[in-house]
Amino acid sequence: MKKKIVIIGGGIGGLSAGIYALKAGYEAEIYEKNHIAGGECIGWNRKDCHIDNCIHWLTGTNKNTSLWQIWNTIGAIDENTRYADTVKFYTCRHGGKEATLWKDLNRTEKELIEAAPEDEAEIRKFIQHVRYAEACVMPVEKPMDMMKIGDYIKMGKSMANMPKVMKEYGKIDLNQLAERFRSPLMKALLRDYMPAEYTAYSLVVSYATMTSGNGEVPLGGSLAMTNRIIERFRNMGGKLFTNAPVRNIIVENSTAKGIELESGEKVYADEIISAVDTSLLFGRFLDKKYTPKDWAAAYERSADYPVITGFQTAFVTDAEFSGQDTVFFDCEPVRIGSRSFDMMSVKNYSYDKCFAPEGKTVLQTNIAQSDVDYLYWKSLSKEEYKAKKQELAAEMSARLVTEFPELEGRLELLDCWTPVTYERYCGAYHGGYMAFVTKPGVNKIDCKGTVKGLKNLYIAGQWIMSPGGLPVAAASGKFAVQRILKKEKRSVDI
Ligand SMILES: Cc1cc2nc3c(=O)[nH]c(=O)nc-3n(C[C@H](O)[C@H](O)[C@H](O)COP(=O)(O)OP(=O)(O)OC[C@H]3O[C@@H](n4cnc5c(N)ncnc54)[C@H](O)[C@@H]3O)c2cc1C
Repeated sequence: MKKKIVIIGGGIGGLSAGIYALKAGYEAEIYEKNHIAGGECIGWNRKDCHIDNCIHWLTGTNKNTSLWQIWNTIGAIDENTRYADTVKFYTCRHGGKEATLWKDLNRTEKELIEAAPEDEAEIRKFIQHVRYAEACVMPVEKPMDMMKIGDYIKMGKSMANMPKVMKEYGKIDLNQLAERFRSPLMKALLRDYMPAEYTAYSLVVSYATMTSGNGEVPLGGSLAMTNRIIERFRNMGGKLFTNAPVRNIIVENSTAKGIELESGEKVYADEIISAVDTSLLFGRFLDKKYTPKDWAAAYERSADYPVITGFQTAFVTDAEFSGQDTVFFDCEPVRIGSRSFDMMSVKNYSYDKCFAPEGKTVLQTNIAQSDVDYLYWKSLSKEEYKAKKQELAAEMSARLVTEFPELEGRLELLDCWTPVTYERYCGAYHGGYMAFVTKPGVNKIDCKGTVKGLKNLYIAGQWIMSPGGLPVAAASGKFAVQRILKKEKRSVDI
């Protein structure tokens, strides 16, 4: 009889675990609390429009990478996938000027030097290191702790230039990177896209993913990609139970035996993979004694382990909108709780015709939020929360019109959502939609994908490795199954 694996959570991590479990010859059942699977990788419809709320770039779209193999195995993309015709990473408007990180690095270098000749040396250095980072790809054949000497040699070759990037940008954050430049425009360009506490190499690597063609945006959007993965799982014989929230993990004699649903139903299995946010795993599903010390410390020290989340709005417009892709711009300060924000972003979704009726375009704004902002949203009563969202949506609309006058009278609000939305919908810790922010000098959490003192339980999901995101989620599902195979002394090459 086939061994049965039960997976908690039907996000990309859980779905990937399910597909790899089936591929390895196990039975797989996924239990997902929401009415649809996908977790954070989804979109939803409002007023004839689709709000795509995940993929800004999908690392692993280069066919020659092992990450592409994972995406292909789980049915996310294949040789025929069509991608958006993205030409830039983002644009920053600051002090009446603008600068862009183009997909074409030569163009970026030329234009940045023209805009900020006083920073030519630093600009050239930055571009050179983006080129170094282009060749570096995420090693996802197997978990690091299973790698053998041959795997390390192979990884060393593919990451040959990474030490140069780490040496130059691995020990400073984006604030410090910005300080190396004299031009206020360059400072804003490099500081404002990600949380400024992020290590500078994160920006370099993210941009390199795009310039190297390994970070495209599949047409059809995040939900369509998730649906392809679900279809693959079901076609392979997997069972996906939606509207099936899990209450806890059944543990007997230090062994995970199954799960108990909120309905009271118990489901037993040979192996359990938890693919929910780790704050739920350690904070709710298991006795506190199983929480690893470094995780417990991270949850207590938000200043060292901040999350990244957002206050977002979506509008539809019938105006000829002049902002391309993503634009960051200075704005009249917006107050959210104890903090004031004088910069916001707008993303233009016109690159995909299926997101809005002809002649219309969906625009999304984002104000970056973190733990303290989450706590503010959480402190509001239901009425206050609703009112604050509406008030801020109006403020976003007004600021968009100030920056892009063509939008005057031509913006219709579709929806707005907050860090608390991510917590409610996915159980996301403090609303975080990536893993903990990678800060220089702060130890990364080292997750081995298992829980000390507990047998038959494995961890998948983006939180197992910084910086999180879709690639980590997808790889973590495969890794969890490889750990089971290793325990059974079977080949981990799946
Ligand atoms: C606005 C936004 C933009 C993003 N942009 C990008 C991007 O451009 N590139 C990129 O790589 N990543 C991006 N991400 C991040 C990416 O979406 C996530 O890293 C990834 O989807 C996380 O997958 P996961 O499976 O680890 O977790 P989740 O998606 O959170 O999945 C966990 C699942 O567990 C379920 N669950 C929770 N509690 C229970 C319970 N009690 N019982 C059963 N099920 C439960 C949840 O409903 C959810 O479906 C973005 C995210 C957001 C929100």
